[in-house]
Amino acid sequence: MSLPFFVTWTAQRNATTLPLKDAEGSWLVLEDGSRIYDLASTSFQASFGYRERRITEPMTRSLEGLSIAAPKAVFPPKVQGSERLLRQVGLGKGRIFYTTSGAESVENALKIARQLTQRKIVLARKNSYHGASLGALSVTGDWRNEAHFTVSDWTVRIPEPGDDPDLSRTREIVRLTGREKIAAVIVEPVSGTNGVEVPPQSWWDALQKMCHESGILLICDEVLCGFGRTGKPFAFQHFGAEPDLVCMAKAISGGYFPFGAVWTSEAIARQYDDRVLACGLTSYAHPVGLAAMSGVLDIVEDPAFWKQYQAAEKAFWEGIHWLGALPQARFARGKGMLAAVYFKNGGLHSRSGELLKDGVQIFAKDDRIVLGPPLTSEPDELRAAMAKVHVWAGRLP
Ligand code: PMP
Repeated sequence: MSLPFFVTWTAQRNATTLPLKDAEGSWLVLEDGSRIYDLASTSFQASFGYRERRITEPMTRSLEGLSIAAPKAVFPPKVQGSERLLRQVGLGKGRIFYTTSGAESVENALKIARQLTQRKIVLARKNSYHGASLGALSVTGDWRNEAHFTVSDWTVRIPEPGDDPDLSRTREIVRLTGREKIAAVIVEPVSGTNGVEVPPQSWWDALQKMCHESGILLICDEVLCGFGRTGKPFAFQHFGAEPDLVCMAKAISGGYFPFGAVWTSEAIARQYDDRVLACGLTSYAHPVGLAAMSGVLDIVEDPAFWKQYQAAEKAFWEGIHWLGALPQARFARGKGMLAAVYFKNGGLHSRSGELLKDGVQIFAKDDRIVLGPPLTSEPDELRAAMAKVHVWAGRLP
């Protein structure tokens, strides 16, 4: 089939596509009326499910009222939304810069870090994804970076936390590079589709210490793991980390609007009181995006959400433990409502089509599957979907 638009990240001929008609709760509805349970929250942005009125209603109100606003405009949802977001981050005052995607949040965080430190090099994890634009791609550690190697000249790779739990190897890399040349280190606090590695506390403590001692800024990319995905508003909060910049997107709007943000510490914000912030975009702090974010904040500020989250998380981990115990599996790991299961054999992406036919969508790559259902999943529905994954995985070679 030849389509009049590109399909992302694939050769166009024989690209796998989904004939989507509708979506509701944790379900996708296809053109033929069949229903697919979504264990990947689309691309991990539909954290609050589909057709969630607590998000769509404020968006509709915004569309019917203030639907476009200039980047420099000041209006109550912008001021109040930012104040609420600062409270969720929970690191004192700080300030918010708005964007329209995860990649753009990373771009702006990198620009700010380089501008303020007057240093160029950024340390980035070996296995990581930070976005498809040139700057964000330069710090990405996976195949998507390869065709664009020239922009990686200022990136220095550090080992994965599990291979460097006391940070000794990273410290040696910093010594050899020269700390006076390093602007920042960018990390996904819990990595996403590149393996859901949860760094040990020792790594966090050493990383924070190294950053303080060396004047290296800590950028946490919470684009995938933010807004409750790992069981706290932000994943860095599990480890008591104190980042200088936090990148957000995806679930910040529940995926209902292309929206993102960068949180900066108050110390960083102050530096722009008399210095030009050389960052901006046409759709900065778009009112409809802010409305979607206000719906998301209504949800995550509600204790009832977290109570329901615990029930969903319990059902999710029952399923993950079963999967990890299969003879085909190597191990399972994760945090909250995000987990990866690694299998003995690869080629899982093409095999995941069988599961889709059976009514369940997952993320699969090489020898791993990554699961991250909506946080609002109904436990019994979630159990039934996990049971289907179990049957599928039990048939793997
Ligand atoms: N950072 C992380 C951790 C991500 O998972 C993603 C998207 N998968 C991005 C950045 C880029 O976000 P976007 O696709 O919205 O540009």
